[in-house]
Formats: sequence, C-alpha cells, structure tokens
Amino acid sequence: MKKIILPLVVFTAFVLAACTTTPVEKSSGLTFFHLNDIYRVGAVEDGTAGGLSRVLTLVREAQAQGRDVHLLHGGDFLYPSLESQLWDGLQMVDAMNFINAVAPLHITSGNHEFDRRGPEQLAAAINASEFDWLGDNYVFKTGDPQADAALKSGFTFSHGDNTVGVFALTLHGDDGGNYRDYIDIDKAYEDVAERAILALEQRGVDVIIGVTHLHMWRDLAIARLKAQHPKLAFIVGGHEHEPQYSRVANSAVVMKGASNARVIWQIDVDFDASGGYSVSEKRIELDESVPFDPEYEVLADKWNSRLLEKFPFLEARIGTAALPMDVREEQVRSSENSWGNFIVDQMRVAFGKPVADLAFINSGTLRIDDYIEGDIRFEDIGRTFGFSSFLRYTTVTGAEFKRIMEAGYRGGPESQGYFPQVSGFRVCVDRSRNEFDRIVSLQVPVDDGWQEIEADREYTLVVPDFLYGGGDGYEIPKDRFASRPGSELKYLVLDAVLRAQGLGKAVGEPVTLENRRLHQLREGKERCFH
Ligand SMILES: [Zn+2]
Repeated sequence: MKKIILPLVVFTAFVLAACTTTPVEKSSGLTFFHLNDIYRVGAVEDGTAGGLSRVLTLVREAQAQGRDVHLLHGGDFLYPSLESQLWDGLQMVDAMNFINAVAPLHITSGNHEFDRRGPEQLAAAINASEFDWLGDNYVFKTGDPQADAALKSGFTFSHGDNTVGVFALTLHGDDGGNYRDYIDIDKAYEDVAERAILALEQRGVDVIIGVTHLHMWRDLAIARLKAQHPKLAFIVGGHEHEPQYSRVANSAVVMKGASNARVIWQIDVDFDASGGYSVSEKRIELDESVPFDPEYEVLADKWNSRLLEKFPFLEARIGTAALPMDVREEQVRSSENSWGNFIVDQMRVAFGKPVADLAFINSGTLRIDDYIEGDIRFEDIGRTFGFSSFLRYTTVTGAEFKRIMEAGYRGGPESQGYFPQVSGFRVCVDRSRNEFDRIVSLQVPVDDGWQEIEADREYTLVVPDFLYGGGDGYEIPKDRFASRPGSELKYLVLDAVLRAQGLGKAVGEPVTLENRRLHQLREGKERCFH
C-alpha cells in the first residue's frame, strides 16, 4: 500500500451494464448484488480494486434501469481490521447503513461478528444497524433486549405482487466458528434450512433464497434441497474469501464473492405471469472500470480522516521491501509468501535463546489483503494484523509435529485461512493423497543441509495462542510445558522491520526453488525439494 488517502477519481469511462437481455421485459424485475467478507470502508490495492463504493455505483445503475435492487451480505465485516481495533466495526455499520439507504441490505452473521469475548460490542453494532440482521440457525443472547430482538428469522419481503423468502445460517464453533455464550447456534444446518424452506413455502412465498456463512460443501448440500423444493432459487454465502460458484441440475445456484468486494455477484430474478421465475447470475470483478460513488466517497474520506486523527503515524515509512510482496488473501492463503516467511521467522526468536526450532501461523492471521512494495509504512503492519496474536512456546515430538501440520494441508488446494506460513522447517505435500496423510516429507535444517524430522526427538515450537488452543483444526498436545501467552506478533514484526531499517537492509526474500519452504508435488511424480 502506498497511501491511505485516495484522490477522488472522476471516471468518464462507460458504465458497466447490468446483465439484461431485453430491457423492456426485465426492467421491472428484481436484482440482487451479493457480497461477503468485507473489512474495509474503502477499496484495496491503492483504491484500484473492490470496495463498497463501486458496489453502490452498480446498484444505482441497476435502479436507473428500473430494477428493484436488494443487497445481500454473507457475513464477516465487524472484525478483524485495523479500524475495528478502534471502533469495533461501527465504521463498517456506518458504511453499510449508507448503502442500505440506497437499496435494502440483508445480512447473515459471519464468525468474525463474534470475535469479541463479551457481548457489548456486538449489541452496540446491531443497535446501530439500519439494515436487516437475518438468522435461522442462531439467536442472540447479548442481554440487550433491543439487540437480541433485532435478529429476524423467516424473513420475507415483497417485490410487486411477489414475495421473496430468505433464510440465513452461520457457522458453529465446531466447524470453525466462535464459541460465545451470547449466541446459540444450531449446527444441523441442512435440517434447519429445510425447516425454514418448508415454513416459507407454507406462507406462500414465490421464491426462496439462502444467505449463509458456511463452508462451501455445506452450501452445496443445502442447494440440493431444490430437488424437493423448486422455489429454492439460489444460495449466496461467505467465509472462503475467494469466488465460488456452482450451477448443476436439480440444485440451487451457489455463489460467493471475493473478500473486500474484489468480486461480487449480480443475480437477476424475473417472474412470469404464471408464478414461475428465472434466475440469471453474473460474476463481476470490481476494478478501475467501475467508478466510485461520489457520495459514498465523502463517507469513506470521513473514516480515513478519523483513522489518521487517531494514528497520525500510519503513513510513516518504517522500512523498505526488498521485492514486491503479494499479500492478497488469494495468494497468502494458498502458497508460501515472502511477507509470511519474514513474519514467521520473527516468531522463533520471540522467547530469546535458544531460538525455537519450529514456528507456524495460519494465513488467516494476515489480514492486509494487498501488496507490500517499495516503502513499508506503519499502515502495512497495522493492516497485516487485524487482531493481537500473542505467542506460546511449547515442545512437540517430530512425529506429533508431522501430525499437527497435516491439518494445514487438508481440503482442496484453493485458498484457506488455515493454510500455514512456516519457519524452521520445510515440507513436501502430495495433495492427491488422502487428507491427513499428505505430508511426504517434513525436514529440518542440519549443518550440511536438511534431514527428515526425527519422530522421537523433542522440538521447541512457537505458535499463536489461537492455534495452541486448537484453532483452525491444529491439535497441539497440552500435556507438557507451555509458556503463558506473551510476545505480541505485531510488535515483533515492527521491531524486526525497524531493525532492518537501522542496518540499511530491505525486508523480504524472494521464494526460489532452492529456498522454498513448501513443495506441493504435481501429480505425485516429482521428487521432493528437487
Ligand atoms: Zn468467516
């Protein structure tokens, strides 16, 4: 990132036309824009990608064509971000209220809405919201009656003579969500969805849609309910941070956008005289071809100014990047990354000497979703760490460690928040093998190169407290010495950047075939680390 305040760019480029076939026939129809996992009031990549401002431009264009526009949000917006550390997501609520005033916005909660251990901040965010919080598999128990009553289940709205029913689901703690005593979440997602669909059918709605914050495979399972419930038109969701799409026979369409509105979906629903409906969806990449909304930019500038008022040092240059580092979520959640390597290397020295043997983090810790190149500014540190990560020092055997790391390579190759950035070892993975049996080789450095980790030897390990506690599916043994959580990762990294700057050194090493820490085998035919 180069600068925090972006000039208000006036675009004269033609405006992206909505997905219309014959304007006369469709002009009065219903249009949804779906977004999810949005942590920024403004756009990303120096303002060139994503952002609610561009979403609003598309909303107004569709409205100008006579469409009845509704916005859907698949959750994750209150936390984590640099701003949420100051305002507990109220800056996002303000932004979402603004777009809700232009077109009604209906959201489901994501797991990050429940990042705070206490309920006060969530209750405040709900009470400040003018948009609809929907939930069919969960209830709020914040102790604030107004906030708790605000959550709507079995939600419907009218479009002309037609009625649309919406059900909304969120992720349970057992599946990677947060455990909090101020929410009750039912994890029988498909059962809840089917009951909600039946209830909406009984009320005579014309079309049913789902807004979820679940894993994609769950959404696909729920989408198959269309076979028995033809009014189920589509499911839109969040959580993955990368675009997802499925349209198969006898199933509802499933769509998710990319984080920070880099990619959103436009879904047109048109009804015919006999009560039938058609759905046509379009994936939209929000880049510079879509202009900002000038009114929204006033709001975005307001929050930028407030941020700089609180943190006037944000733009201060603290170091230099040795190379352009691509820390966009798509990249950092699926592959080794120069910035990630630099960060995890600092973890091994966090508890003094001797330096710990091994360290790793889940990529979901790194929230910047942007490039770091040229000057490293304080803002890059602030945005990389959307929350505090206190570290733990413990020991594991080589055999245990290999088992722990298998969790990092489970699932598909697409980007995942649990994907690990590592230090002190290198790992060779064959994704064609069964889950939890994919690590072909895990090696530690020795004087003259590398050797396989020794199954029975004890190694020292540093991980964030979140992972030590079993977060993101990593199971670290609890039956031996472990330090209390200490040494905050953000300040370790800041310290390391400043130290490099003092020495006149740039930060970050390119990942090469020789020094790579992760080797993902193609078709299992390659040799590890060759
Ligand atoms: Zn999520």
